[in-house]
Amino acid sequence: MHKKTLREHHQSLKAKDYSSVELTTYFLDRIKNSEDLNAFITVTEDRALMQADQADRTIGSGKMDLLTGIPLAHKDLFCTKDVLTTCGSRILDNFISPYDATAVNKLDAKGMVTLGKTNMDEFAMGSSNETSHFGIVRNPWDKGRVPGGSSGGSAAAVAARLAPVASATDTGGSIRQPAAFCGLTGIKPSYGRVSRYGMIAFASSLDQGGVLGTTAEDCALVLEAMTGFDENDSTSLNLEVPDYGASLRKPLTGRKIGLPKEFFGEGIDGDISASIEEAIRVYERLGATTVEVDLPNSEVGIPCYYVLAPAEASSNLSRFDGVRYGHRAALYEDLNDMYETSRAEGFGAEVKRRIMIGAYVLSSGYYDAYYIKAQKLRRMISNDFSAAFEKCDFILGPTTPATAFGIGEKDDDPVSMYLNDIFTNSANLAGLPAMSLPSGFDSNGLPVGLHLIGKYLDESTILNAAHLYQQQTDWHQRIPGGYE
Ligand code: GLN
Repeated sequence: MHKKTLREHHQSLKAKDYSSVELTTYFLDRIKNSEDLNAFITVTEDRALMQADQADRTIGSGKMDLLTGIPLAHKDLFCTKDVLTTCGSRILDNFISPYDATAVNKLDAKGMVTLGKTNMDEFAMGSSNETSHFGIVRNPWDKGRVPGGSSGGSAAAVAARLAPVASATDTGGSIRQPAAFCGLTGIKPSYGRVSRYGMIAFASSLDQGGVLGTTAEDCALVLEAMTGFDENDSTSLNLEVPDYGASLRKPLTGRKIGLPKEFFGEGIDGDISASIEEAIRVYERLGATTVEVDLPNSEVGIPCYYVLAPAEASSNLSRFDGVRYGHRAALYEDLNDMYETSRAEGFGAEVKRRIMIGAYVLSSGYYDAYYIKAQKLRRMISNDFSAAFEKCDFILGPTTPATAFGIGEKDDDPVSMYLNDIFTNSANLAGLPAMSLPSGFDSNGLPVGLHLIGKYLDESTILNAAHLYQQQTDWHQRIPGGYE
């Protein structure tokens, strides 16, 4: 059952080959047998079985939707009513959300079943899932390696087929980089497509909800269900929800693929370059042509992102004060000491580092030199994409310069961790849709990710390109040893 796509599950549920309760129980059992991955912070077994039972009744009444009765997991950054929602942090280790995130609500309304909440880097800050207060997550392809981050729990869960699909978020690469490390397909839509209401904020101008799954089609179906205007999020786009499923099969004949020379330079693992070159051949066979494009400011993407994201984080995280919700220190002298001690105990090292960097770049003496400068660079990066998209329909490159690294390998070197986002964070800075899909393996048997970036609001073209690639290749069907 764990090898089926969402459409296949839909057919089987409709034909009553199995019930949603049976399907849900099956995945709950897989989760129980894979606790060593540490992919989940909370498993909501009872609730899941209740939702599945409800879904079975809907199916029985003949009113089912395509997603009704299909289980999924949510990154523990999406608020879930009456369920622990930690964002991977000690400061929220007792936070039971009083409401649902809009994205969760929309998927619930379709009749999807929530299996539980997945592990993640604390406040989504990281590229390895090693900063979680709830422990590291292991990559099912090699348990000595990281699954990527920050959506590492969602990625490990889907890669090990503990859930058919999972929600995730991407501020600088947190859907695409773990997708690449775990051999999955993941999409981050254009900024504003998925409501951020009830998504615990990291960097509000960059955060976007999206999906991790095994196929582009599965991602398209779930993304479509999560998308749409929400008056509770002032940055939510008031646009019609596109029919992503309908455009998946369009031929690629005549489409132009932009290859930025900055994405094919030095520092990329040889096996990754070979795999991406091979993917380009597949696209050529599908009728697309390639054109070289320029993203001259890509080299400042990392410094720009690592000024802006911490700046926004330092402001967003000021709400965690031990008063309104979350962890409060047991011992303190006065009010200020209570704030300080609660935050000192509640936040981990990476989160503290970001708050300090953010407060620094926003402080009056440095605001112009760092924050304003980074905003200007952000505009230049975005303009580069606009110019590139005059020449092509979408951009292609590697998702990451290297495959999954070892647990602990980058512990003492935050900058080398930050460099993981080198190809991914510019799409967030420019608000563009982007995805990663499996395009092969390196000589250690670790998955390689192919990165596609689309024009603003044009998720359809990259989903279409990803789907057609997956009709020609079977990388997305490979399952890590021990989980087949
Ligand atoms: N690795 C990046 C960071 O640590 C991206 C995280 C994300 O996309 N949430 O900030």
